Amino acid sequence: MRPALLDPLFSPITTLAGVGAKMAALIERVLPLDLGGRETRVGDLLFVLPNSVIDRRSRPGIANAIDGQIVTLDLTIDRHQPPPRGNRSVPYRVYAHDDTDDIALTFFHAHAAYLEKQLPEGEQVVVSGRMERFNGRPSMVHPDHIALASEAESLPLVEPVYPLTAGLSAKVLRRAIGQAVERVPTLPEWLDAAFMRKHSFASFDAALARLHNPENPLDASPENPAWRRLAYDEFLAGQVSLALVRAKVRRLSGRPLAGDGRIVEKLRAALPYSLTGSQEAALAEILADLAEPDRMLRLLQGDVGSGKTVVALMAMARAVEAGGQAALMAPTEILARQHLATIAPLAARAGLRTAILTGREKGRERGETLSRLADGSIDIVVGTHALFQEAVTFRNLVFAVVDEQHRFGVHQRLAITAKGDAPDMLVMTATPIPRTLVLTAFGDMDTSKLTEKPAGRQPIRTVTLPMERLSELVGRIRDAVAEGQKIYWICPLVEESEEVKLMSAEERFAALQPVFGDQLGIVHGRMKGAEKDEAMRAFKDGETRVLIATTVIEVGVDVPDATIMVIEHAERFGLAQLHQLRGRVGRGSKPSSCVLLYKDPLGETAKRRLSVMRETEDGFVIAEEDLKLRGEGELLGTRQSGTPGFQVARIEFHSDLLEAARDDARLILSRDPELQSERGEAIRLLLYLFGRDEAVRLLRAG
Ligand code: ADP
Ligand code: MG
Repeated sequence: MRPALLDPLFSPITTLAGVGAKMAALIERVLPLDLGGRETRVGDLLFVLPNSVIDRRSRPGIANAIDGQIVTLDLTIDRHQPPPRGNRSVPYRVYAHDDTDDIALTFFHAHAAYLEKQLPEGEQVVVSGRMERFNGRPSMVHPDHIALASEAESLPLVEPVYPLTAGLSAKVLRRAIGQAVERVPTLPEWLDAAFMRKHSFASFDAALARLHNPENPLDASPENPAWRRLAYDEFLAGQVSLALVRAKVRRLSGRPLAGDGRIVEKLRAALPYSLTGSQEAALAEILADLAEPDRMLRLLQGDVGSGKTVVALMAMARAVEAGGQAALMAPTEILARQHLATIAPLAARAGLRTAILTGREKGRERGETLSRLADGSIDIVVGTHALFQEAVTFRNLVFAVVDEQHRFGVHQRLAITAKGDAPDMLVMTATPIPRTLVLTAFGDMDTSKLTEKPAGRQPIRTVTLPMERLSELVGRIRDAVAEGQKIYWICPLVEESEEVKLMSAEERFAALQPVFGDQLGIVHGRMKGAEKDEAMRAFKDGETRVLIATTVIEVGVDVPDATIMVIEHAERFGLAQLHQLRGRVGRGSKPSSCVLLYKDPLGETAKRRLSVMRETEDGFVIAEEDLKLRGEGELLGTRQSGTPGFQVARIEFHSDLLEAARDDARLILSRDPELQSERGEAIRLLLYLFGRDEAVRLLRAG
């Protein structure tokens, strides 16, 4: 049970003044985490941290204020001058003065009653905003803040600036966050006192208050102790939660999975190629783990196209040899189908029976699959999380493979499988993850790496091209289509914001259709499952030659004879994503290329990213560069600008805290494995605050 102390933070944000259902939906868009469908809570607002601050501390007086400067002025109101009746184009002016000069406060489309209340004649007020001069006369158009001198404290001299989205005003968001911060109760401390002193950490509530009500601009920086404290908290919550999941997983009895090699060897013989050295090595590690009586928990890391699926299949074959069933879970339906397509023909030749189970299988077909899983007449099932969510029963599930692609946050999935039959677990990730991130996302997990590309792969030539040369590119693509090549054309998602109006996939489709006609296909996230499959099939079979796609669904899809990848607005993508997308080509034996279309002018970070892409194909190098560049520039969308899987912590600023958090977590749990001591109880609060509820539930006394 969650302690009642935290209730104020777990009530819906609509309980905050000024936040209705509509505002709540807008606020959800700026949250640094994916709510996964649950309602937004007051506590979620705490971790919406400022991007920057507006410094309003300068109070030079009217005469000394520089044009364009943000200043705060202490004024006496002289008189109001409403616009002449019926002429709304003339602004409402309020004249005021200080010791140094006069000023006109200027309002367009003003409400007289409101201004009379805010700026009563003869009163002392404080206003803050941008200083301007019209014909040499001081003025301020729509001051950002107005307060009576007696209430001047309410005016933020250092104002935090939060991420915004269309329709959400800074004021409304700031007010909501302010209320959320006020609702934070005084909590027992979960950090070690000496550690806090060493790092100049304040308490949790004080750190939050400092970040949201900075007194000077440095207070709101990620390098400030306040932010670092919260980052540490988040790391610690993550590490404790991972350790609990892991302990639970280990506690559940494993069983040795051994086999005589008959199916594994049949499979090996059925492969149209031989495994690379690193595939062999990874397979050997996995088979050795399986043979141990302990439960396996291993990460298989390998770049896109490095051949993880085959390794997983061989390992699943061993599980079947040992008399059990195996499951492969993919993050999306389309990827589940892709995996099945890779696996099924090979599996069939080794006498393995396969099936698929996603949200889309319905009716009789589904019923049949379910009963065959239950009676053991399916050896290997491929599916989405539907596999583990529903009342799917296996006759004897002994091995589960989770394909995470480039997602992070295995917590939930590990927890899900911890409930079941305690199958051995293999987690596959497609992006080579820097060591620090492996630690944050997976804790101390055993890792196998695929470092070689399968033999016969050709390097991918990568070029950058400004948008102005689009027509030239289209001409070259037309030639390539005439030669029988296949081309992916990626368009970024359209952000529903005026500022980032990007060419959407549909618009690009319309623009290219006159050129490519029937040979042009499109696939995007808003299409239905069956439509997506059909679009992919048509491209795979060569009925369409150019496939326009958004980034949501195509990652991981395998069309080995696709040779050109065009990425539009490449400057908007993060490095990991660019790398991931580029990996869709260069999978066959023909030379491939990748065209990064960009729009000038390029920022420094974008420039650097594109040149990294030109310089290297090594996923590990790219991952490290990505980490360095992250945060320096905006990635696509607000949610991706931080470190994936984290709300507060930013690896580029806080990685030094990570190992400390891991050691701390180990120490805490070694002394108090069920979190029952005083500090343990406080740690439970921490877990709730950072959404690690599922870890708390794993505690026996949870
Ligand atoms: P990943 O899942 O790591 O992105 P896949 O397992 O989907 O990669 O493999 C990508 C492609 O490479 C598949 O078409 C697969 O058949 C092929 N492949 C895998 N291993 C080898 C190998 N050792 N030699 C040649 N091709 C391979
Ligand atoms: Mg794969």
